[in-house]
Amino acid sequence: MAKKTIFEDCDILVVGGGMAGTGAAFEARHWGRDLKIICVEKANIDRSGAVAQGLYAINCYMGMQWGENQPEDHVRYARNDLMGLVREDLGYDMARHVDATVHMFDEWGLPMMRNKETGRYQREGKWQIMIHGESYKPIVAEAARKSADKIYNRIMITHLLMDETKENRVGGAVGFNMRTGDYYVFRAKTVIVAAGGASHIFKPRAVGEGMGRTWYAPWSNGSAYALPIAVGAKMTQMENRIVLCRFKDGYGPVGAYFLHLKTYTQNANGENYEKKWYDKTKELVGEYIDHHPTPTCLRNHAFIQETMAGGGPIHMVTKEAFQDPHLETVGWENFLGMTVGQAVVWASQNIDPKYTNPELTTSEPYVMGSHATCSGAWVSGPEDISPPEYFWGYNRMTTVEGLFGAGDTVGGSAHKFSSGSFTEGRLAAKAAVKYIEEEKAKDINVSDKQCKEFKEIIFKPLENYTVGRNEITGGTVSPSYISPIQGLQRLQKIMDEYVGGISYNYMTNENTLKRGLELLEWLQEDLEKVGAEDYHQLMRAWELKHRTLTSQCVTEHTLFRQETRWPGYYYRGDYMKLDDENWHCLTLSRRDPKTGKFTMEKAPVYHIVDEKEKKEAS
Ligand SMILES: Cc1cc2nc3c(=O)[nH]c(=O)nc-3n(C[C@H](O)[C@H](O)[C@H](O)COP(=O)(O)OP(=O)(O)OC[C@H]3O[C@@H](n4cnc5c(N)ncnc54)[C@H](O)[C@@H]3O)c2cc1C
Repeated sequence: MAKKTIFEDCDILVVGGGMAGTGAAFEARHWGRDLKIICVEKANIDRSGAVAQGLYAINCYMGMQWGENQPEDHVRYARNDLMGLVREDLGYDMARHVDATVHMFDEWGLPMMRNKETGRYQREGKWQIMIHGESYKPIVAEAARKSADKIYNRIMITHLLMDETKENRVGGAVGFNMRTGDYYVFRAKTVIVAAGGASHIFKPRAVGEGMGRTWYAPWSNGSAYALPIAVGAKMTQMENRIVLCRFKDGYGPVGAYFLHLKTYTQNANGENYEKKWYDKTKELVGEYIDHHPTPTCLRNHAFIQETMAGGGPIHMVTKEAFQDPHLETVGWENFLGMTVGQAVVWASQNIDPKYTNPELTTSEPYVMGSHATCSGAWVSGPEDISPPEYFWGYNRMTTVEGLFGAGDTVGGSAHKFSSGSFTEGRLAAKAAVKYIEEEKAKDINVSDKQCKEFKEIIFKPLENYTVGRNEITGGTVSPSYISPIQGLQRLQKIMDEYVGGISYNYMTNENTLKRGLELLEWLQEDLEKVGAEDYHQLMRAWELKHRTLTSQCVTEHTLFRQETRWPGYYYRGDYMKLDDENWHCLTLSRRDPKTGKFTMEKAPVYHIVDEKEKKEAS
């Protein structure tokens, strides 16, 4: 069914040209002058990924040149926000390099806001600096375009190729062009997966005509996880899904409102509801509730408890700040830079924040590795600071040789955001070049047989449709295939009802998780019968398959961790308390590519930053 087969051999293949992918393409050229670098993107790198529409703030900037923050501070911040559990080596490594990345963005023409008095970048908060960021993505895309030998847009990567000479070594990736239907085989010495996070695996709040209005990019479909999971790479903290508190229905950002406009939240009676839940939260998580700033999940927890107790709706108090014309302008511009839809929603609902306090909501859960959460691949850290359990040769390399990750793909390192993801792409690319230079990618063999087999598999949904549609006697429902949208809604229902989605107030337990796993397995079987009527639907079919594999991994992890570490992100009803004695650890999974079975284990958490300081003090 595929039209042509196109082969492309290269040294470094970057999968996904978002923030991390563009960073990887740029840096790969810096270190690998003579290497062949290819970037493959599902959309078009000028406007792809979570930053497609632009941003109003760069959320991760240390400001070391002015002594504002040090990398150690950022590690402590991320550790605190994630209730103690992060890979401090990865976080530190990103933080020590992120300022250099931001300075390049500045040089490349990204309009940065400046503090008129100090001349420094305008701070929105301790870590955030403000930008006029509508053009953010085209600017970083240009850097990638100038660096890579070739950028392929509109190609979805569906599978990684594996070397047939050496076990557990990557050999490239395959996919298809969703406009032409051509089959693409990229044989590569190293692959950097930078394919973003996963939205739409849990049932979203906006369904039916509003489907697609989610907080995270609706086109982030979990390829970043499914690709490494499918070839047996270890994953970490996949249970650590994130729930966001955002403006209702438009999911407009709240950061600038809280930090710059100094707005605050209250319940329907005008009360500070967070205080009300202090004692009860302390019973669940102990002293973590006293940490500053209050961890994101715990603020969600108070929100959820308050609405469950009938105190909703929860409002953002904007009426006071919006009396100041400057702040009013910032409030609106904030949406123009990144979420125009929020302004449209308010207009349609007759909300002028100067006179009406808008409602907030908690979103459905998302899986990602770069925001206030850290699900993703288990990767090696940098040589100079990682303890032996965290280091196996090449920075940001997964447990599959030659397969690297960056941005949302990489687990354990939260709060990277756009700048940190680009930085991590750079780090991964530098290590990938070293891997090639040290001849670790010699004699890779990917047979024609392997490529042909994937071709059959990838285009099967087109065949399912072509054959199956003949059996339809009326309407559109086929007896022998399901459409991608039907499969997606089934997935979302399973995840919502059994794995802690919005309908169940994020509650789950061992029994529901086990049932969820059973249903997911049957869904996997039925996805063999997914039908695609055209190449666009073929993409939808593969997005669904990637989402489903990601969901299985999330569910396995959620079952494994027998505690509620992040109330407000999800609750294990059978283990409602945080349990530092048994679960102050990272969770790891590996799916056996042959059997499809997951095995789980614990990995230690090292508090490297303060250990280092303790040693220095003694
Ligand atoms: C609503 C929202 C608000 C945010 N606000 C801020 C903010 O204010 N400040 C800030 O600094 N950060 C912010 N972030 C975070 C920031 O956008 C992310 O941290 C960053 O984009 C992650 O980079 P990434 O490369 O991992 O993913 P992305 O930038 O999403 O890139 C992933 C890329 O992979 C492509 N892709 C996916 N699957 C495939 C496949 N199978 N084959 C080929 N290509 C594929 C996608 O099309 C995409 O281009 C925000 C994110 C969101 C969603």
